[in-house]
Amino acid sequence: MKLSTLQFYLLLALFSLMFTSIWSYNAFLKIEQKNDRITTEAIPISNAASQLFPLLLDQELTVRSYLLDQNDQTFQQFKSTNAELNETIARLKMLDQRHPILKQLLADEAIPLILQTDGFYEQQIKWIQSNQIERAALNRYSGMDYVNQFRPINAKINQDIDKIIREATERSKRASASAKWVIVIVVSVAVLLLMIFLQTFRLERSQQALIHRSLHDALTAIPNRRAFDEHLEASFTAARELQTDVGLILIDVDEFKLYNDTYGHLKGDWCLQKVAGTLKKQAGEFGHVSRYGGEEFAVILTEHVEQITHVAERIRSEILRMKIEHKAYEPLCQLSVSIGLAVVRPSETLTEGDLIVLSDQALYRAKSSGRNQISSHEAS
Ligand code: GH3
Ligand code: MG
Ligand code: MG
Repeated sequence: MKLSTLQFYLLLALFSLMFTSIWSYNAFLKIEQKNDRITTEAIPISNAASQLFPLLLDQELTVRSYLLDQNDQTFQQFKSTNAELNETIARLKMLDQRHPILKQLLADEAIPLILQTDGFYEQQIKWIQSNQIERAALNRYSGMDYVNQFRPINAKINQDIDKIIREATERSKRASASAKWVIVIVVSVAVLLLMIFLQTFRLERSQQALIHRSLHDALTAIPNRRAFDEHLEASFTAARELQTDVGLILIDVDEFKLYNDTYGHLKGDWCLQKVAGTLKKQAGEFGHVSRYGGEEFAVILTEHVEQITHVAERIRSEILRMKIEHKAYEPLCQLSVSIGLAVVRPSETLTEGDLIVLSDQALYRAKSSGRNQISSHEAS
């Protein structure tokens, strides 16, 4: 299959679009993965940050209880809450790299306050453990002050966490939506190009059908007069260059008007189809067979020109062998053809028209000498 330039470029565009759509689909998958990561990363930060306040409150409660019961178990409880708080802070410090606001909030406000709180509890515990309960009891409300001071910081942390999650979700949605559009557009253009590509094949086919129709005879399906003219001209051009001969056989059905009158026009049509079929079969391999006009046919020979008389004789005898009845055409009473042929060596002065005239004159001689015979230009 040979592609036209347009088809080649269309195919090229189609392949590059297909490549682009695969590439954009992969990019889309990567964006989705990245967005998932951003969202999942925001979740542990949010979890850790939301633990800070309840842990501070727990600490306060356990220190207060320890003040009341001085029980070692309560002290252990405080220790474990305090350890958990320190762990959470450490975790947050690790996770906050990509979130500058949170990082600043922790560094400037949350951690200094928690450190101060730690210092206060250390002092309280020291007093409780050295039996200075009165002293510790006097200070007991300061713990709650620290917790209350933490409330606005906690609110700001939560606000930033909300913002981090919202932004991550929005970014993910935006990226997915634009990637989807890129894919939709790329695929649509690819489909459009594919349709144009297929359409060019259809157009080419119908164009070829039109060309074929313009060069072939509707009744007999063999090349028509236009094809004859083109072929003869091309043959002359080539023969002039190569200094070779061109032969032309003109075949005319004998008393065909009479045949039509006897059997009707439709039967006449059938008859012409049979003659065309025989011509193709007997002369097709030697030359270019065509319907020259009406009940006249032609064979152009550019090779085996020396066999032209033999070819003409084959045609004449094969038509007779068909034994198509023509009762009004006496005495033969069957369909026959008269043939005129000529061979020339084309030159600047000797043209296609000259060859046609010579063959036609020979045909005329065959007719006037009684039909069903061959007459050639050389023989004249
Ligand atoms: P001659 O032997 O001298 O050639 O006589 P003829 O009757 O064959 O020649 P003439 O030129 O007088 O008539 C040719 C006839 O061929 C007339 C025309 O009706 C018929 N003919 C031409 N084309 C067609 C066709 O397509 N179909 C049919 N059925 N007849 C056709
Ligand atoms: Mg005629
Ligand atoms: Mg005739």
